This record gives sequence, C-alpha cells and structure tokens, in this order.
Amino acid sequence: MDLNKALKASIRDIPDYPKPGIMFRDITTLLGDAKAFRLAVDALVYPYVGTKMDQIAGIEARGFILGGAMAHQLSAGFIPIRKKGKLPYDKVQIAYSLEYGVDEMEMHRDAVKPGQKVILVDDLIATGGTAEAATKLLQQMGADVVAACFVIDLPDLGGRKKIEALGVPVRTLIEYE
Ligand code: 5GP
Repeated sequence: MDLNKALKASIRDIPDYPKPGIMFRDITTLLGDAKAFRLAVDALVYPYVGTKMDQIAGIEARGFILGGAMAHQLSAGFIPIRKKGKLPYDKVQIAYSLEYGVDEMEMHRDAVKPGQKVILVDDLIATGGTAEAATKLLQQMGADVVAACFVIDLPDLGGRKKIEALGVPVRTLIEYE
C-alpha cells in the first residue's frame, strides 16, 4: 500500500461534526495505529533528517502529538503554541479570525531565539488561518520558519497560499476535497 492509501485508511471520517455539513477527519485512529503513526511522522520529518533543526513548533492540541514525535526524530526542541490563557510564563499573543469571531494563540516570549530554525506542525490545514497566525507569531519573535507541515490538506480551502505568502514552504501528506 502506498503512503497516501495507508494514511487515509487509518483516518476516520465523521460526517456532520462539529456541525451539519462538515466532514471531520478524525486522526485519533491514525495515532492509535502504530504503523500509521510511524509512517506519518517519518514522512513529515523525511526531508529534514540530517539537517540541523532547532525547534518544532506544534499547534494545540493535535500538533503537540505529531510535533513531539518529530522533535525526537530530529533531535530538536519543542515549542507549544497554545490557546489563550494556558501558558504560565511571559507570553506573546496573536489574534486570528475564526468562522465566527476571533481568538488568540500564545507562546512563551523566550521559546524561540532569533535566527533559530523552526518547523511548524499541525494535523490539518483548511483555510490556513490557524497556521498563518502561528507562523506570524514565530516570525515576529525572529524565528526562521523553514517549513509548515500537516498530515492533511483541504486544498479547496486555500490555506497553503496563506503560508507560502509568508515565505514558508508547505509540506502536506494527503489531501481531501
Ligand atoms: P484552519 O485554520 O486552517 O481553517 O483550520 C485548521 C485547524 O482546525 C487545525 O488546528 C485543525 O486541527 C482543525 N481542524 C479543522 N477541521 C478539522 C478536521 O476535519 N479534522 C481535524 N483533525 N482537525 C480539523
């Protein structure tokens, strides 16, 4: 089985979640499948093995799971990018738009040193609003964001272009219409 088929076979599709008309791609089944989890993490880190990477920045919450495994594989550190109000120390924030209203994400002010090479990771990119905000936050703190990685791309929603417009290449493993 190729990578695409193997990963798709491990992802559970939930119709009408969190609301009618939305097909939610549930990756908990991928994470619970030892082979699929390893396949996904290996595929995400593959282009960077043997290069010096300082940090993996994961977006709460599923980006933490993938990002922790990637950091281990690449001998890099890990930066949690969290929803507002969760981090205990001095923070920097960025506001971003949701379908209805705005939200904020945060990271610790000292989490990244200027010039450090960072890979951003989340499970899925849809409109790109979440990853765009996280990329901007990292760049504002002087990070060299060398790539943004996602297991799943929903290309019809155009997220990739938002990240590429910030000068950051996007790497995704599978797509759904
Ligand atoms: P965006 O900001 O690109 O529109 O949405 C991406 C964010 O929403 C990511 O943090 C992602 O985890 C979450 N998300 C949206 N739809 C889905 C989905 O169908 N499955 C999963 N696993 N996450 C989703």
